[in-house]
Amino acid sequence: MRKSILAALKVCSIIALTSVGSVSSYSVQETHAASCRGGQGIGVHRTVRLNTNGGKRYGTSHGGAQNFLKHKEVVLTFDDGPISSVTNKILHELDRHCAKATFFMVATMAKNNPALAKKVANKGHTIGIHSYSHKNLGKLNGKSAISDVNRSINAIERAVGRDVAPFFRFPYLSENRSVNQHLNRLGYGVFAIDVDSLDYRFSNSTSMVNRVMSELNRKGKGIILLHDIQRVTGSGIGQLLDRLNKGGYKIVHIKGSGGKDPVAPVLVSSAESKAKKAKPIVVAANTATQPKPKVKKVKVVKKTKVQRTTVKKKVTRKKKLTTKQALQNRNNPIRAKLKKRIVITQAQPAKKKRVKTQKVAKVTAQDVFKGNRAKVLKQFNKNKQAFRAAIKKRIIN
Ligand SMILES: [Zn+2]
Repeated sequence: MRKSILAALKVCSIIALTSVGSVSSYSVQETHAASCRGGQGIGVHRTVRLNTNGGKRYGTSHGGAQNFLKHKEVVLTFDDGPISSVTNKILHELDRHCAKATFFMVATMAKNNPALAKKVANKGHTIGIHSYSHKNLGKLNGKSAISDVNRSINAIERAVGRDVAPFFRFPYLSENRSVNQHLNRLGYGVFAIDVDSLDYRFSNSTSMVNRVMSELNRKGKGIILLHDIQRVTGSGIGQLLDRLNKGGYKIVHIKGSGGKDPVAPVLVSSAESKAKKAKPIVVAANTATQPKPKVKKVKVVKKTKVQRTTVKKKVTRKKKLTTKQALQNRNNPIRAKLKKRIVITQAQPAKKKRVKTQKVAKVTAQDVFKGNRAKVLKQFNKNKQAFRAAIKKRIIN
């Protein structure tokens, strides 16, 4: 029965619906397109275009969340990538199951592998922002945190070669009030989570999948957090998609609305030409935002300077030794020249001697004074002796 329904819906039937509840916060495209793997693939149940204007928040973990999911609906999200060893496996499994997901990329990761970032986009998955280098933005001051967000948006969009969805997720879900205000101005939605896979804690993929399923069964629906840098997620994603399908869960693919996050995939070639056009700006941004390597270069220069000076000192020492040797050898033709130099060098210590003699002169003056004093004392002593002699005489007399 189910197969026949799916066969009838091989061509995606798109039913545009107006949103219910939070008015105009999202529009829905019903896309019952699970036609892959002979109807065994979970596919995409529906695509939701989220209107993120007005500081919208998604995911129950940080409150005030937009409720766009129905019972048994899930959104797959992957953070921290892309990295070829894991992201490629995930892309392969998502393809195999005809599923779509959202990748919250870290800018440094996307910059390291722009081809993979483009691949994610060209496969029709949604790309969101997950900071520049995964700093805890909640611990940064407003200015630094906003700067990080701006840099991350620029870097990721350049790596991907086009605009990405206006979706932002804070690293560690650690929010920054200034960044929230900034994202609100930019029209970005802030994403938290409903179901945490805790995939970084697991080494066994089945255990990780069991964890996700038990959390989902408890909550009934939600945005699932996974990481496309975790091996266990790469090896377990196929199993998770199978379990979701068997458990009757439906995948919802979220997209941005407005000018960002275009519906039709952009060809890699055109994306690359866009990136090439933007290259001068990339260089400027890189030089402005990465001062650390410059400092390192300066340090290296300092080191080389020190090395040069030590080398020079060594050389001069060696020269002195050779002049001595040359002087000892009477047959040496440069002996006369060296003698002149010695005359000059001898004249220099002579100056020092003069200084010394001046000092001696001062000392001698004191000595003279002391000598005079000694003479006076001697005379006094003599007088004493004479005085004593006179007294003796008087006694005797
Ligand atoms: Zn993260």
